[in-house]
Amino acid sequence: VTLIDGRAIARAVLDAVHADVTALRAAGTTPTLAIVVPTDDEATAWYVRSIARTAAKVDIEIREIDLYDAASTEPTGADLAARLDSLSADPSVHGVICQTPLPKGVTLDEVGQHIAVDKDVDGANPESLGRLAAGLPAFAPATAQAVVEILHRSAVPLVGADLVMVGRSNVVGKPAALLLLAEHATVTVCHSRTRDLAAHTRRADVLVAAIGRARMLGADHVKPGAVVIDVGTNPTDDGQLVGDVDTAAVEPVAGAITPVPGGVGPVTTALLLRNVVAAARR
Ligand code: NAP
Repeated sequence: VTLIDGRAIARAVLDAVHADVTALRAAGTTPTLAIVVPTDDEATAWYVRSIARTAAKVDIEIREIDLYDAASTEPTGADLAARLDSLSADPSVHGVICQTPLPKGVTLDEVGQHIAVDKDVDGANPESLGRLAAGLPAFAPATAQAVVEILHRSAVPLVGADLVMVGRSNVVGKPAALLLLAEHATVTVCHSRTRDLAAHTRRADVLVAAIGRARMLGADHVKPGAVVIDVGTNPTDDGQLVGDVDTAAVEPVAGAITPVPGGVGPVTTALLLRNVVAAARR
């Protein structure tokens, strides 16, 4: 089995991003990503720090807007909307993302609508997803892009390939399925109501898991030689992070697999930053 090195792919992406940032800065533009943080969630804070660290390496400016700290309580949906509206209108900001979890009663769709489509570098606006579905230019969620980037950089043939996507969320499964369809894969999307999941996944040349259930897919789900992309990030009781795929069980069967951590995650951050550069260039 080949272990696909997400960190190496991320480094290659970031090298190109850094070169582009240098050129943009020389021309007087400082690529800037605004991160709105509406929560004091520990995992979210960790993720924001990791984006900031990576951005610093490629000279992208991060503007963190900590709504929770400022108010010492959860912001309202209106607070969030107002902040996203003003960042969308701010010419010194090129990309805008909003972290989850969102305040109670606020949906990602509602929030996303306040991120201008041309700054929507993590594809949170439902209009971006609609444009993606229609084959029009738009930013897809970085995680969905990461799946395609990893497959391309690993030279996995997609045209005509039987590809099974497990998961249909608006942030991962659905946009990833749309991007892979655009790559001419024959895409099957499975979900919690799918009858006999393994019967589908066992046909897959490429199997993508974005389920959110620790080690749910085992050797029985995988066709010998298949490429397995594991998007899942599930915390375990002992503080580890594991994927949706039981890597130890699947390794003897699969042709290639992404590890967790060190697979899709670092590529996602790299592509988010690449999107900021693309937005800054416009
Ligand atoms: P989500 O919104 O909870 O969606 C999970 C999807 O899996 C749903 O479509 C659900 O089906 C399906 N599902 C749940 N149980 C299933 C089962 N037993 N059999 C088949 N399908 C099942 O999660 P998400 O936001 O898409 O995230 C998925 C995973 O990716 C999570 O572990 C998350 O942490 C991870 N993630 C990683 C990154 C990264 O950068 N690495 C980024 C985002 C997310 P229904 O639609 O029928 O409910």
